[in-house]
Amino acid sequence: MTAKRPLIAVLTGAGISTDSGIPDYRGPAGLWQRDPAAQQLVTIGPYLADPDVRRRAWLMRRDAGALTAEPNAGHLALVELERSGLPVRVLTQNVDGLHQRAGMPARKVLELHGTAREVECVRCHVVAPTAEALERVAAGEPDPACRDCGGVLKPRTVMFGEALDPVVLQQADAVTKACDLFIAVGTSLQVYPVAALPQIALESGARLVVVNGEPTPFDEAADEVIREPISTALPALVRRLVAGRF
Ligand code: ZN
Repeated sequence: MTAKRPLIAVLTGAGISTDSGIPDYRGPAGLWQRDPAAQQLVTIGPYLADPDVRRRAWLMRRDAGALTAEPNAGHLALVELERSGLPVRVLTQNVDGLHQRAGMPARKVLELHGTAREVECVRCHVVAPTAEALERVAAGEPDPACRDCGGVLKPRTVMFGEALDPVVLQQADAVTKACDLFIAVGTSLQVYPVAALPQIALESGARLVVVNGEPTPFDEAADEVIREPISTALPALVRRLVAGRF
């Protein structure tokens, strides 16, 4: 009989991707909270109603560079943790797909806010790579429509005004309840329902580690708070976990 290996859940937010050149858009201090005109571009009502909002949204996506960003030492450390054989699940608030690009198996990543790497037709729900739609923008289509039915294309992200996917949220809840160690990385833990996850982990008896540049509401309840930059803090934490020194 082999001993049960402890399940590690890692919740990641914008902070893990800033070293890859992707700014924090969605967080409490993020760009979209500070700039109402920018927030319009990622709010479902205006996006569906107004072709001009969509035209500006496509230009924003073209210029944001999220599709060309490369994973950094933080993403790579989590891949190393997974390859060590410890059971790991990543719950991410990010839509950049950098965990998978770094080498984390897609089946071990739950994308709570969806993905910016794909677009979906709001009418017939066909899915296509965002890169393809951006090629059409570059070729002179300011608001590329679904090639099949002419419907509006939107990224497969959870926009403002949209609810999180209940299936994904339920899976995140199950992983959180089952884990022995819950690590929150680069997230303010202030935006619900994701902010409820550390509380669920604590109530289920898991240990909690917070890795974030700024204080979070869970710092006092955490077993450990790491305030260093994520690109150095996470590799060091992973080395301890792999060595069984935690
Ligand atoms: Zn369509």
